[in-house]
Amino acid sequence: MTMTDQPDTRHPAGDAETRRDCFHVVVLGGGATGALMAAHLLRQSDRVAVTLVEGTYRPGRGIAYSTTDPDHLLNTRADMMTAYPDDPLHFFRWLKARPEGSGMTEQSFVSRCTYGDYLTDQLRDSAGACGDRLRHVQGICERLDDSGRGVVARMADGATIAADLAILATGHAVPRPDPRGLTTGAWEGVDGIDPDGTVVIVGTGLSMVDQVLSLSRAGHRGQIVTVSRRGLLPRPHVPGRNPFPVDAADVPFGAPMSVVTRWARDLARRARAEGKNWRDAIDNIRPHAIALWKAAPLAERARFLRHAVAWWDVHRHRIPPRSAALIDRAVASGQLIHRRGAFLRAEAGEAGSDRAIIRPHGQDATTAIDAARIIDCRGIRNDPERHATPLVAGLLADGKARVDVLRVGLEVTGDCHLIDRDGHPSDRILAIGPVSRAAFWEITAIPDIRVQVAAVAARIAARADAQAAPNPETASKVSASQAPARQA
Ligand SMILES: Cc1cc2nc3c(=O)[nH]c(=O)nc-3n(C[C@H](O)[C@H](O)[C@H](O)COP(=O)(O)OP(=O)(O)OC[C@H]3O[C@@H](n4cnc5c(N)ncnc54)[C@H](O)[C@@H]3O)c2cc1C
Repeated sequence: MTMTDQPDTRHPAGDAETRRDCFHVVVLGGGATGALMAAHLLRQSDRVAVTLVEGTYRPGRGIAYSTTDPDHLLNTRADMMTAYPDDPLHFFRWLKARPEGSGMTEQSFVSRCTYGDYLTDQLRDSAGACGDRLRHVQGICERLDDSGRGVVARMADGATIAADLAILATGHAVPRPDPRGLTTGAWEGVDGIDPDGTVVIVGTGLSMVDQVLSLSRAGHRGQIVTVSRRGLLPRPHVPGRNPFPVDAADVPFGAPMSVVTRWARDLARRARAEGKNWRDAIDNIRPHAIALWKAAPLAERARFLRHAVAWWDVHRHRIPPRSAALIDRAVASGQLIHRRGAFLRAEAGEAGSDRAIIRPHGQDATTAIDAARIIDCRGIRNDPERHATPLVAGLLADGKARVDVLRVGLEVTGDCHLIDRDGHPSDRILAIGPVSRAAFWEITAIPDIRVQVAAVAARIAARADAQAAPNPETASKVSASQAPARQA
């Protein structure tokens, strides 16, 4: 897996002054969310121009789809992964038209790098169809200012991008690299590890599975030890799905979390009793998840995060059967050992090794494991303030944004407008995808993100169409300091 794919240069640079007739939107963050946003905006209105700003990866990739390991599969079947809610089999048709699609069915689990290709293609197709209305700027945005009539995105190299509206699509809060170099991150590669050395993986979620698959592909022979507080592992998908509709009228919106979890367990039991599967129940609760979160009082949301989220995650984010089989084989062979306990810290060990200090579950004493590599797969972090990038830190410091009480995301309105320190929604800054988790919670996977993005795009398109005279000062304009080589 690479962390830094080559920048995509296929998206032609727009002429800085070309689209004065357009409403100019700068999308900050070119992962899956930002790419979907750009594609939907360009599809929905020919009066919108988009500048997509991405600092690290090729557009459309982000942390999920920048992997190059073909064993890193989507955890969602092909027929669930369309970019467009109004065209459910769009991704599947795209897939079938390519060599990778040979032998694939709607139920297949495709590699995530193939899905990244799909998203990149959506951008390229939009760019092709819309002429000069899409521009990709490669670089880090460090600040977002109000210009009085619009916004100004200030880039790390001093360039500025003026626009009518900014959309934060900057993704999850992720941990910074370990400054001591004792641990590597969940989305880094496994190269350079002694193939006979012990590897400690902290966390047992989906990125642990990725790392075990990559180690296996690399021919790793040494022990792999995972450590997690609860010892919960993602459940596997099984072949087939059964209809198990969950009517909104039967969902206990606003009820205490204990009632909601009991209801969910009852549904799973009912599914089994009808000869179906608990997975059918979970998959049919999922379309109601955002409404359940919205309806839950604050104390119940906090209770969910404290007690139920780990349970929900392992049932809801399932792994493909092929990945599950490989994990099972590694456990059966004794190579992979799951240990329940708390990872306390990493220390420098002897002879260049690292040492993981853990406290096994139910014990007071700590244990040390010497390791060739310690991989921190605890993944996505809560608290966007503690893990803020300069851009988000600046918005918080300026009072343009605030973190929700539960510290899961930036506060936004139901239509994704950023809420400032005093509780006022911004007219010019929106936040979508995982950044908006505080308001929607279940807004991290493509099936949810695409619906949010389509709705936001429709509102912006209506605004652009209604705007009789766009502001000439902000029309798709990049400052003179923007070096042409940085625009792709
Ligand atoms: C490992 C993994 C596997 C997943 N598998 C699936 C799956 O199978 N099915 C599914 O539906 N969902 C899956 N998801 C969930 C999902 O698709 C992601 O959560 C989604 O990709 C979120 O995309 P994003 O663009 O919001 O965030 P990110 O992927 O984090 O992208 C944000 C982008 O913004 C850029 N950025 C941030 N700040 C700045 C800045 N200041 N200036 C410039 N650029 C900036 C970053 O470089 C990054 O590229 C998976 C997620 C992960 C992590």
